[in-house]
Amino acid sequence: MSEELKHVDPRQIFQEIFKMEKYRSRLSQMAVEGSTSLVLDFEDLRVADEELAKELIMNPRAILDYASKAAYEQLKIEDPEYANVIEKVAVRVRGLPTPISLRKLGSDYIGKLVMVEGIVVRATPVRPMIVEAAFKCRRCKTIKRVPQSGMTITRPTTCESEACRGRRSTFDLVEEETKFVDYQEIRIQEKPEDLPPGQLPRSVNVRLVGSDLVDTARPGDRVSIVGIVRVTSPRGEGRLRIFDIYLDANFIDVKSKEAEAVIISPEDEKKILELSKDPFIHRKIVQSIAPSIYGYEHIKEAIMYLLFGGVPKTLPDGYIRGNINILLIGDPGVGKSRLLQYVAAIAPRGLYTTGRGTTAAGLTAAVLREAGGGMTLEAGALVLSDMGICCIDEIEKMRPEDRVAIHEAMAQNTISIAKGGIVATLNARTAILAAANPALGRYDPYRTVAENISLPITILSRFDLIFVLRDVPDKERDTEMSEHILNIHKRAHSSIEPPIPPDFLRKYISYAKTINPVLTDEAIERLKEFYLTMRSAGEGEGSPIAITASTTRYLSFLRSIGFTSSL
Ligand code: ADP
Ligand code: MG
Repeated sequence: MSEELKHVDPRQIFQEIFKMEKYRSRLSQMAVEGSTSLVLDFEDLRVADEELAKELIMNPRAILDYASKAAYEQLKIEDPEYANVIEKVAVRVRGLPTPISLRKLGSDYIGKLVMVEGIVVRATPVRPMIVEAAFKCRRCKTIKRVPQSGMTITRPTTCESEACRGRRSTFDLVEEETKFVDYQEIRIQEKPEDLPPGQLPRSVNVRLVGSDLVDTARPGDRVSIVGIVRVTSPRGEGRLRIFDIYLDANFIDVKSKEAEAVIISPEDEKKILELSKDPFIHRKIVQSIAPSIYGYEHIKEAIMYLLFGGVPKTLPDGYIRGNINILLIGDPGVGKSRLLQYVAAIAPRGLYTTGRGTTAAGLTAAVLREAGGGMTLEAGALVLSDMGICCIDEIEKMRPEDRVAIHEAMAQNTISIAKGGIVATLNARTAILAAANPALGRYDPYRTVAENISLPITILSRFDLIFVLRDVPDKERDTEMSEHILNIHKRAHSSIEPPIPPDFLRKYISYAKTINPVLTDEAIERLKEFYLTMRSAGEGEGSPIAITASTTRYLSFLRSIGFTSSL
């Protein structure tokens, strides 16, 4: 322990803290919940003793030990019966003042307590891990208990019993007498919105030990984890000087998905409400989407609906998604990729990927074999962009596995996987903006949409809106477009000013998403009429994709323009 601390007794300070009403009630709840851990709010420790709080960060092992003992003492007072049942109380620390970015987690932090935030990308199944092994000597049958800590089992070599008297012997593990604890390894990755532009996301492995920590987070979940930074040799107990960093979790907090990705100040709110009353708000938003891309007003309008989204409904017999999916199919070089990249950057939770996916998990999810031999579930792009927008470029190149799983993702907003002993359903409440190149290189107007793209109709039908972008020479349009593009290049440094700056538009969208508009009778009537006319129009042409019922579009429209009226 460091010099400054010698004047205080950490155990006494913890004892004072745990006498607070809040902790006493948490302790007396433990028996009911069958829990063996107590959550300590870091702020309470900081108020009680600033020095000790600092020491907890620098020297977590020792200080947590004091806390654990103090918590057990207090439990003996609150619930002596339960204290007899459990041997110790694990103290979990919640809410360190500042999270450390995964990018900065380096050797400076080894052995220290940190808080990191990220998104769970992988999780192994929960497996038992030995904490104390019981060995039986083959010669004299005496049981010997050996506490375990490293990754491999430490075996005794000599037997100290009366009979063997320190001779070398062989030992067998006695499972029944051995103490196990639940163990799981997860991997967390930087959140897409925290990622510096053009950088690959960093990730770190996290070890979860204890039944209260394992299985709390699934791939795709956003978590905040408090833990001790540790290192491990990549290949067991090797001789390499280079190690891998991992986190020994102390506390894991699964963030509610709805939590705002964007921080909105009261001034922002005032500006947002003001802007929402603008009679031209609708057009202004459309003009603010990818202003450097010429034309495509109708597509940009659709993208606006996608950005705002509708209201999901949970019914007794299922879930109705609240987002729309858009597909852009068309000739190469018409700006599809540019549009997608722009939307990914502007959306509060946007992710840009290609059909192939950027990880082994592809677009949906995959069960992968770990280096150690076990299986691990890894989340793909659609799971990582849960509650956000996933921009998938060149979707026709997606993996065959994803072709199967994407149906479920697009209709039910979940991804189910059952493979290698892992059975899981992950959330993928994602709006998809996809782009595809025509199967024959160029879009053939004499064929149907379905014949122009190498995707099954079942997937196509999951898109609410499909746009065909063709690159046909048109003197008027070409002149205007070339002027538009040349203009941008002329003003290289100050790109086109959209009516609403991108940062503010992101806030506006985030804010609008917190409002739940309700369909009026008049709106229902108009939608019904529109649907019937569309259906009868589709009938005659023998269109391969029938217009399917989607009211989402209207709800997102309400959100984008009239949301103040429902406040
Ligand atoms: P795609 O993905 O459709 O093949 P890209 O998005 O890669 O096409 O666009 C190719 C180039 O053409 C980009 O540099 C883009 O800026 C330009 N471009 C194409 N159409 C437009 C447009 N309507 N307005 C501005 N730039 C465009
Ligand atoms: Mg492209």
